[in-house]
Amino acid sequence: MKQRDIFIVSQDGLNPEVNQIAVEAISELMACFPSYKNDYPITNLGAWKDDGYIYPKNGQFYLVPYKSTRWHIENAKRDAVNDGRPNQLNASTLFQTMQEDPTNQEIPQFTILLTKDDLYPNRQMNYCLGMGDEGIGCIVSARRFSDANGNLIDRENFKTVLMHEFGHVIGLTYEGRENSADIYGTHCTDEDGLCIMQQRSNGDFSDITQARLGAKAYGIPPICNDCIKAGNQFFAKERQQANVNKIVQETLKNLGIRR
Ligand SMILES: [Zn+2]
Ligand SMILES: [Zn+2]
Repeated sequence: MKQRDIFIVSQDGLNPEVNQIAVEAISELMACFPSYKNDYPITNLGAWKDDGYIYPKNGQFYLVPYKSTRWHIENAKRDAVNDGRPNQLNASTLFQTMQEDPTNQEIPQFTILLTKDDLYPNRQMNYCLGMGDEGIGCIVSARRFSDANGNLIDRENFKTVLMHEFGHVIGLTYEGRENSADIYGTHCTDEDGLCIMQQRSNGDFSDITQARLGAKAYGIPPICNDCIKAGNQFFAKERQQANVNKIVQETLKNLGIRR
């Protein structure tokens, strides 16, 4: 039974190839969870726009809050401009509006937002590649993996980072897990050095990418056994919760109570 959609959305002007590669990357990670992957269909929505996403006022058009990816981006851009960083997006603002988005409440989903602009998490830090949180979604920028024309030139490292951020969304490195350490958030300390859920504080994931590709050639998954176990626990909990909700709904219905 379907639990949630995985929606991939993107900033206007992002090379559509990036979305395609994102679908590949997420499929590759979800393949590590054969009992659950069919419950989470992946859909590429591109630069998403809902009906009525703009409204006219005084002869101009304005974006309706939460009704398009563009609104989220422009809102985060405004904060970046205020922070004196007009060429970046404030990732914390972006993540916050994504989390509050009423559509996210109505349609159970994990959102993956891809940007062409560079991201920064707060005023203290220069940049970040992405940001993600358990049960909600993640944002990843293609900027540092692309050339000046927006063509993705560092495709495999981009895939690693995207899979890593989405790994946080599906709870692979929850706090207090065994073989984990807090390095800018909880990360895997896989002793074999293969797992993509390891942290690279300098933003250079190329050794992990090499390990991932090497493992892939032998049919070895991109995450370690601890991460696979954590993901299976996460998905089992979601399924259990859905069953409880269903029983509650049916009981209320049988009692003639609507809610
Ligand atoms: Zn991380
Ligand atoms: Zn791991």
